[in-house]
Amino acid sequence: MKPESLMMSHGYKPELSQGAVKCPIFLTSTFVFASAEEGKDFFELAYGHRQSRPNEELGLIYSRINNPNLEILEDRLTLWDAAAGSAMFESGMSAISTVLLEFLKPGALLLYSAPVYGGTHHFIHHVLTKFGIEAIEFGVNDHQEEIEQKIASSGKAKELALIYIETPANPTNDLFSIAEMVELGKKYTELNGHKVYVAVDNTYLGPIWQKPLQLGADITIYSATKYLGGHSDLIAGAVMGTAEVITRVKTLRTFLGNMISPHTAWMLLRSLETLQIRMERQQSNAIEVAKFLSKHPMVERVYFLGEGGIVSEKSQKIYKEQCLGPGAMISFDIKGDERKAFAFLNKLKLFKLAVSLGSTESLAEHPATMTHVDIPAPSKIKMNITEKLIRLSIGVEDPQDLIADIQQAFEG
Ligand SMILES: *Cc1c(COP(=O)(O)O)cnc(C)c1O
Repeated sequence: MKPESLMMSHGYKPELSQGAVKCPIFLTSTFVFASAEEGKDFFELAYGHRQSRPNEELGLIYSRINNPNLEILEDRLTLWDAAAGSAMFESGMSAISTVLLEFLKPGALLLYSAPVYGGTHHFIHHVLTKFGIEAIEFGVNDHQEEIEQKIASSGKAKELALIYIETPANPTNDLFSIAEMVELGKKYTELNGHKVYVAVDNTYLGPIWQKPLQLGADITIYSATKYLGGHSDLIAGAVMGTAEVITRVKTLRTFLGNMISPHTAWMLLRSLETLQIRMERQQSNAIEVAKFLSKHPMVERVYFLGEGGIVSEKSQKIYKEQCLGPGAMISFDIKGDERKAFAFLNKLKLFKLAVSLGSTESLAEHPATMTHVDIPAPSKIKMNITEKLIRLSIGVEDPQDLIADIQQAFEG
């Protein structure tokens, strides 16, 4: 069956909860063992002191380690990515920082694509550096040879441990090839004699329109605050991957204590039921809005993965290889300057002026002075994040109402 058919039931057994058709919220810190022997068994497994016996599953111990809401959510989420396992976190940033800490160590080298989410950039440059972890970045215009040149000239090629990419990149929808990064990871795994992992922040298109694990990536990361949650009412994160990856990530999570709460996990279970229809509607709305924008005389350029949006041949090739749809994020350059952009943003009525994305309501923001304000000016220009750029996250409203709102905001 398709994931959308299983989002209401997978992993939940009504007979364990008085027959309730919906999974209750398990607001409990700890769980009662049936016997001391059972408690011993659970701990042996949880701490990896022995292999599990046939059909033996880890029992419930303590909500920092596991909880029914967490386990059911993690099981359901794996269906979209056909992942062996998943681990849920209290935010996208806690998912990202836990992966970076687990797969890097003092002296290691990290290779990452730019631009990345502002919080990720900060963690790489202000936290990882404290642990002696070095990072080099590459941009959308760097070819494979140039990337390898950068790795070589860092003098730490042998220490390369993790390749981290965010694609499509926020806010301009620039595409990075997942397959190329997987090849690069394989090459350095052989050269270095240790595994070089490839992680993809899949928040923008996943899990419906892009599936990095199926393209060979080792780790997929989500800010579940965005499309997975989808209602602007929670903060959460997710990591998907092989059994080996998830065991490592969950072990570190147990000791950092940054797991998702049962309440937030329950809210995400509700959100997942409508994930497919929300994202489909958001995408079809975005296609209409992008079409309108690309013909409007006040618009200089549209950054969208659909019709009229993708310009370079290389991007078209990557899009065909790894994207199943254009998604619902649109940026565009307005003709004029910051004043013009602000006038447009201030005049919107149906679109709310707020950062974040992926929710049922449409949102608009100004990356250069808001989400991407921290990027140094020369880099911003190189990445097309100028004062003219406006970012839209398209929701589930009526598409004609969205277009009418944009139309009246231009007329301001
Ligand atoms: C929002 C976001 C994050 C951070 O997630 P939080 O849930 O806010 O911690 C990371 N990556 C991308 C691409 C995002 O959009």
